[in-house]
Amino acid sequence: MSKLRFRVVETAFKKKAVEVKAPKDRPSDYFAVNVFNREKMFKYLPEKTFQCLVDSIDNGTPLNRETADAVANGMKKWAIEMGATHYTHWFHPLTEGTAEKHDAFVEHDGKGGMIEKFSGKLLVQQEPDASSFPNGGIRNTFEARGYTAWDPSSPAFIVNDTLCIPTIFIAYTGEPLDYKAPLLKALEAVNKAAVDVCNYFDPNVKKVYSYLGWEQEYFLVDEGLYAARPDLLLTGRTLMGHESSKNQQLEDHYFGAIPSRVMEYMKELEFESLKLGIPLKTRHNEVAPNQFELAPIFEECNLANDHNQLIMGLMRKLARKHGFRVLLHEKPFKGVNGSGKHNNWSLGTDTGALLMAPGKTPEENLRFITFVVNTLKAVYRHNALLKGSIISASNAHRLGANEAPPAIISSFLGSQVSKVLDEIENSDPDALNLAGKQVLDLGIPRIPELLLDNTDRNRTSPFAFTGNRFEFRAVGSEANCASAMLALNAAVAEQLIIFKSEVDAKIAEGKDKFAAILEVLRKDIKESKPVRFDGNGYSEEWKIEAAKRGLDCETSAPLIYDAYLSESSIKMFESTGVLNEKELEARNEIKWEMYTKKIQIEGRVLGDLAMNHIIPIATRYQSTLIDNVYKMKDLFPAEKAAQLSSKNLEIIEDIANRTIFIKEKVDEMIEARKAANKIESEREKAIAYHDQIFPMLEEIRYQIDKLELVVDNEMWTLPKYRELLFIR
Ligand code: ADP
Ligand code: MG
Repeated sequence: MSKLRFRVVETAFKKKAVEVKAPKDRPSDYFAVNVFNREKMFKYLPEKTFQCLVDSIDNGTPLNRETADAVANGMKKWAIEMGATHYTHWFHPLTEGTAEKHDAFVEHDGKGGMIEKFSGKLLVQQEPDASSFPNGGIRNTFEARGYTAWDPSSPAFIVNDTLCIPTIFIAYTGEPLDYKAPLLKALEAVNKAAVDVCNYFDPNVKKVYSYLGWEQEYFLVDEGLYAARPDLLLTGRTLMGHESSKNQQLEDHYFGAIPSRVMEYMKELEFESLKLGIPLKTRHNEVAPNQFELAPIFEECNLANDHNQLIMGLMRKLARKHGFRVLLHEKPFKGVNGSGKHNNWSLGTDTGALLMAPGKTPEENLRFITFVVNTLKAVYRHNALLKGSIISASNAHRLGANEAPPAIISSFLGSQVSKVLDEIENSDPDALNLAGKQVLDLGIPRIPELLLDNTDRNRTSPFAFTGNRFEFRAVGSEANCASAMLALNAAVAEQLIIFKSEVDAKIAEGKDKFAAILEVLRKDIKESKPVRFDGNGYSEEWKIEAAKRGLDCETSAPLIYDAYLSESSIKMFESTGVLNEKELEARNEIKWEMYTKKIQIEGRVLGDLAMNHIIPIATRYQSTLIDNVYKMKDLFPAEKAAQLSSKNLEIIEDIANRTIFIKEKVDEMIEARKAANKIESEREKAIAYHDQIFPMLEEIRYQIDKLELVVDNEMWTLPKYRELLFIR
């Protein structure tokens, strides 16, 4: 084995778990100790300030300067008591991950000393020099002014010595430069629209929350092995590597015992997360070797998304302490499952009702059906856009592969809900002319209270109904959930507004309220039927069938992004006040640019590795074979020598052919990149990278993976899949 690989593999095998002492207290004792939550607000803020802040959090009432100053003061007091010395605005720019810029609390006291200071002004607004964050041309670099603004609905928290204040990030001209600002708008839109519809059933509903429970999948690899794989280091995935003889065939990893080194990592991660108020609940092995999953209890969507962003950072940081690197890439290894992030989504009221769950009375059941049908209709009308909201250069590897949601957005309802919808669709229209209670009794099929048994789940469905929520499974493991959540919530908001106007029109004509609702539902059930699919989403037949039904079947990421700029998407985003056309265009520029950059970096890394790792090693091994062939000639008569060397000659030729191919392809790829880089339009450039450069990566990889099988194991420098995936 090459010295380097030998060394890293050896150490990886010998590594012991870093033991984490289980905290003595119970989780309920340390949950959210690092969060400025209501309990601390109450303790650290004057009564009046506390009331104003709570009102702002619950109802979005703006805070005046005086209150902001008082909040900042209380927050500072708490943070300093907790040992914090710095503060930062914490935001989600349109890159991966979060951004922060730390400032110390200190100010001159005017007497030659220092005081700790933090004002309302600094709490409410900051101006990071943000010219190098992606902005899609919204700001010219010379007008690089953007600012971050406090989001009181997500509580401040402390990491290390720093008080982190969740903020939105917007341009001076008001356009959002982040994920959070449009997400908050989408949540507000769905709140308003859903409250209006809820009021048909219960006039007491004043607020509707959108909930999100994410399930985060990830891989762990040994840090030493990771460091010896430049492709993992620079691109987050292996650009080469032959499948291990054993990977997930035996399905022995899923839900298996968690290895001790990993267990210690998980324990510490849970402890740190709980202290930050992230309500982690579930942990288990996933399908692929070295793949795991964690999930919290669901929360209000904006907070849940902040928590997901926060935990991804925490996962990266703590992994290193335990001698691991965490891989959040959607497809780090070819041939084994990739990672996703199921987004469990639902709506619920301030009166405690879950709108995606059946209830006890006919009214509650009609409400349940109303929200399910409106969601389906939104998903049907915006199925192309929803795919756009989850696609990325890295998630493209997962989608459409036989392991993850197909590249067609459809929805699985399960037999029971399907049956209910079918019955309504085929119900007697005359029955709908009856009034009130009568129509409810006749119009709504019986829904057993415990209908929602989760057993008939369909793992191949990208948007499945799972009892009291929908599970959007196509979201990528590395993604910011806000991208999918803002599209989904906005689409549902738009649909609920349309629904209400149609129902109101019928009521205005003199129809009974429930009869009107049922009539519109019957129409919507019919119209949204094409998006319902309970069969095998991986099958070839489904692709053909889905195209016939008019669902979007595009598989090229740069073209999938076009859905954001379709007439219906622009109308939807503008009518709900979430994003306008100019903003959508700017954000698409960023998506295309990001796509191009990702493939560009992969192309460069693969080219380098091919030229300075793979070809030299293969050639060296080939030379030892050539040497052997010559020596055979010295030892044996010509005919015998030829016979004995025949296999080696085959390998020599095989290596020659493959290395020539690799070299030529790498050159060709460089030329193709040069040509693509000259294209001005970001969209066209991304298309060129998708259509021309990406396939070359695969062709080069194919040859390298074949070489890995023949070249002497002792010479191969890069850690192999069997090492990367099975190290404990
Ligand atoms: P699975 O069986 O799909 O792997 P998990 O228990 O791992 O389920 O995760 C389910 C996630 O869905 C959790 O985060 C859970 O809190 C969340 N969840 C449960 N009910 C709802 C709901 N009504 N709305 C949103 N999320 C929910
Ligand atoms: Mg799930």
